[in-house]
Amino acid sequence: MIIFDDEVVSVFSDYGIMLPIESCRARKIVDELGAGISSRHGRFPGPVLDIQHTLSLLGRTGNVINRYDIERVHSAAYVNALFSDNPDELLRELLNAYELIGADGKPNRYEPEMAVKPLSALFEKILAQCAGSYLACASALTTEPHFCYFLAGGNHHARYDTGAGFCLINEIIIAARKLQAEDGARIVWIIDVDVHKGCGSAELVSFIRDGLNPTPFETGRDILTLSIHMARGWPLDAESLRNAVPGRAPLLPSDVEIPVGEGEEPFYISLLEDGLHRLEWLTSSGCKPDIAIVVDGADTYEHDELLSSSLMRLSLDQCVERDMLVYNFLRSRNIPSAWIMAGGYGERAWEPPCRFLQTLGRGFI
Ligand SMILES: [Zn+2]
Repeated sequence: MIIFDDEVVSVFSDYGIMLPIESCRARKIVDELGAGISSRHGRFPGPVLDIQHTLSLLGRTGNVINRYDIERVHSAAYVNALFSDNPDELLRELLNAYELIGADGKPNRYEPEMAVKPLSALFEKILAQCAGSYLACASALTTEPHFCYFLAGGNHHARYDTGAGFCLINEIIIAARKLQAEDGARIVWIIDVDVHKGCGSAELVSFIRDGLNPTPFETGRDILTLSIHMARGWPLDAESLRNAVPGRAPLLPSDVEIPVGEGEEPFYISLLEDGLHRLEWLTSSGCKPDIAIVVDGADTYEHDELLSSSLMRLSLDQCVERDMLVYNFLRSRNIPSAWIMAGGYGERAWEPPCRFLQTLGRGFI
């Protein structure tokens, strides 16, 4: 099943944020998949539902993500700022997370005079995306074929007490912990193939395990993280590390950390395959994960237009081979999977996830 909802897609220029993100990327994928239905190779796995229909399918109503879901993951001070009665506090955190003010104090990729909506309204979209990621997990757990692809989301950089890298809250870990709190899952794998290191997810899980987050894992519950990413470049570039907030933890490794250097694209698939086996090996024997959340960034693609993704250049075939490797690894072990579209920038960013879903569709006929 696929979750697609125009309402959760952020049109960043509406808020004066100037990023090379195609707001119609998800729509393009759905159109391409739909156009292929009548062809021999065009089917995709299951129906395309919006958030409301997904809620109905799961027998749920009301707000999916509430403040308490975020408090399980982020610091109390940070959550207080996001929900403060003083709108300046939320604004400050949004400006920081989206890097809209440069080191010189001037707007960076931010043209507020072009905005048609207040920046603070972006928070509602972010919460809706968080709901979509959680619902993708809930659908994958309860609905055949135990596979759900959410055509949005992927905010994996938000850290314990701050947003970062266009991510205000870490919806990946929020979704995982909510599943655990509701007894939907005990062990969750995060398989993050976005080109940028899943730094926020690694930190948040580490803080929970180490007791720095006051809400510990309940007995028998854990989240294990894998991240395969550019060995250099944001957030691992010298400038980002130098600008780290004093007193903040350095970037922490995922449980399985796979940095891929420039020119190592030919080894990408074998590195990932080895990493998946290490992830399985790290998971306590007899504790098969109940679900895997795949952060399926397409910014590994050679045609990606974001400057900070330029140090890895996978071909379209390699992107699809990557996704099929993860899919088949999980499928062969009967592990449900929720796929979150995550990064992907520029006019051709729709191609990797679309080709992956088309490839899957052939298998589901
Ligand atoms: Zn990315």
